[in-house]
Amino acid sequence: MSGTNKRDAIRERHLQAHSDALDGLVIDPWIDGQSVSYEETTPTRDPVIGEQITTVSVCDDAAVDSAVAAAWDAYDGAWGDTTPTDRSQRLLEWVGVLENHLSELALLECLDTGKPLAEARGEVEGALSTLEYYASVARTQHGSQIPAQKDLHMYTRAEPYGVVGQITPWNFPAWAAAWKLGPALAAGNCSVLKPSVHTPLTTVRMAQLSAEIFPAGVVNVVTGSGATTGSALTEHDDVRKLSFTGSGAVGTEVMRVAAKRIAPVTLELGGKSPLVVFPDADLETAVDAAAAGVYYSTGEICDALSRAIVHEDVHDEFVAQLVDRAQSYTLGDPLDDDTTLGPLTNGDQFETVSNYIEIGQDEGATLETGGGPPSDPALADGHYLEPAVFTDVENEMRIAQEEIFGPVQTVQSFQTYEDAIAIANDTEFGLAGGIVTESTSLAHRAAADIDAGIIYVNAYGPIRPEGPYGGFKQSGIGHDLGEAAIDHYQQTKTVYVNLDEPEL
Ligand code: NAD
Repeated sequence: MSGTNKRDAIRERHLQAHSDALDGLVIDPWIDGQSVSYEETTPTRDPVIGEQITTVSVCDDAAVDSAVAAAWDAYDGAWGDTTPTDRSQRLLEWVGVLENHLSELALLECLDTGKPLAEARGEVEGALSTLEYYASVARTQHGSQIPAQKDLHMYTRAEPYGVVGQITPWNFPAWAAAWKLGPALAAGNCSVLKPSVHTPLTTVRMAQLSAEIFPAGVVNVVTGSGATTGSALTEHDDVRKLSFTGSGAVGTEVMRVAAKRIAPVTLELGGKSPLVVFPDADLETAVDAAAAGVYYSTGEICDALSRAIVHEDVHDEFVAQLVDRAQSYTLGDPLDDDTTLGPLTNGDQFETVSNYIEIGQDEGATLETGGGPPSDPALADGHYLEPAVFTDVENEMRIAQEEIFGPVQTVQSFQTYEDAIAIANDTEFGLAGGIVTESTSLAHRAAADIDAGIIYVNAYGPIRPEGPYGGFKQSGIGHDLGEAAIDHYQQTKTVYVNLDEPEL
């Protein structure tokens, strides 16, 4: 098939997939247990062909207000009376329903984000596993008894906030929704969740699929832009806690707004995470981590291991193998089984990453491979970029300091352990860090010395629901995942019961 014919075939296949995936579905805000539409709408686009998949209503202040009111009604009603066992059972029932719709959710995620279908499916499975995990954690929650005085029965209760506001980005929409809803619901809260305007499909659909399980108002999804819908949610006086995942700039604004009413915030923000390759490293393992760490999901990953810091003895061989690996990705239609790299999720991000490719070259780094659109004319409608590798990188350069959020690996070299750790920690971020070495002792030592909330040794990932996930420094406050996350959705009450002297 010629390039032009292939391009037309991809376009037709996607247009058909849009109508198949949306057959009979209305993707609109989910408020008080039903779909609600509003006059103003916004499109969500397929990044492979640039066409609109559907339009989604925009929630303004009044719409967000109705969602928050519905959430409080649910909390003050049936949901507030549920026990942890009830909530655990409901979460498991929801997982069961979502499992029956796994292929549908994976297809929606693939079309909305441009991820290869197998990756989208894996992430939806990750979302289900997260909800399942919080179904178990729900039943382990308890306060404590404090033996302070003999005539005092003193104990703590772990209580929900009531209504929480949750905001997610566009890189892992379904997975992120589960990271937010799992612990919030397990802890006994009701939620008003705002997905990214670029990728609302799976979040709305997951909420619709909870209809028969949670009372109306427990799960609400408000759609729209950050400026309109996001700010209406963060500024709402009746939202008692905010959990935000996204960029540092917006996270700062969320925290500023929350501070006005002393609402607690959990912030999961960006990163510029180092991957330190020691001289004894198995180079294939190092290249696996460096490639998966920044090319998975087209590099749109918050904990991307995007700064390879490689010992000078193995630097040249590492670069040669990484360049080969970068060139081995198959860019193509995410609906094809053999595609290993999809497009960036939206046009703005394509511009941002392309701009960093120029910035890196202007700064004096050497672009060893990639960084431009593929030559295949069949892919001309999508926001595709070939995986890039930069060498001759200095840590002061913008490409080594700023989050690119695309398939761009930078490589620096080091001589001593102290150099490696100093370079790794010389960043405003502290989300993740990677280490590749055959020495157990060195691995643990470096894991302690790298200033970041998540450390991967001899691989990138996996991310498990059991592991607290959060950043140091400007990468955030608090955690998603793990038992730690549930703590962010509960407040502690201390009860003092004075005991009388027995008069028997
Ligand atoms: P973003 O900050 O632009 O948007 C995130 C969300 O906030 C979106 O839903 C957006 O609509 C909303 N928003 C925007 N302005 C708002 C406002 N004024 N008030 C309230 N909400 C507002 O981020 P993005 O571009 O969608 O996502 C990419 C960023 O997310 C990257 O920096 C990435 O590192 C980060 N991220 C972090 C994690 C983590 O766990 N640490 C995970 C995924 C993504």
